[in-house]
Amino acid sequence: MSEENASCGTIVTAPTCGSCGVMPAVLYHLYKAHQFSERKILRALATAGLFGNVVKANASISGAEVGCQGEVGVACAMASAAACQLFGGTPSQIEYAAEMGLEHHLGMTCDPVCGLVQIPCIERNAFAACRALDAQLYANFSDGRHHISFDKVVRVMKQTGHDLPSLYKETSEGGLAHDFDR
Ligand code: SF4
Repeated sequence: MSEENASCGTIVTAPTCGSCGVMPAVLYHLYKAHQFSERKILRALATAGLFGNVVKANASISGAEVGCQGEVGVACAMASAAACQLFGGTPSQIEYAAEMGLEHHLGMTCDPVCGLVQIPCIERNAFAACRALDAQLYANFSDGRHHISFDKVVRVMKQTGHDLPSLYKETSEGGLAHDFDR
């Protein structure tokens, strides 16, 4: 999906173009490797959409506004929630999985090399997909109780994004993108 996006093909923005690879990677893997039915996959997709919309309503999913934590971080939270639901997670476990998916991307900057959504974006999508599977595993091993809520992480993500200097947001002139030009 990320390569399709980079070559100007048709993709679903879930939640954004740059982070469109995470959800399909996780759901396709679970569909193929664990034989979940299409109905279950669609229900998980709906759950992921709810989490994405919570972030969109209460913070931002724009790399230009809050950096990559709002793109790949949110994609990871969505995929974590979807995967957790597929493996039978309770609402608390699903929310915990989403919280971990976003929490561990807090502060992640947007620094696309040459302003293109390829490097580091494509690898970043793949890593976030793996992280989502880990988050669901962790949440499903727990009883769902946790100290930091998803809503709290969303608030912190918004504040962190606003505190980030603009050169670490899309289209970046700092970080990896800047270093690559030297
Ligand atoms: S690094 Fe920037 S352009 Fe690439 S996925 Fe993250 S927010 Fe989008």
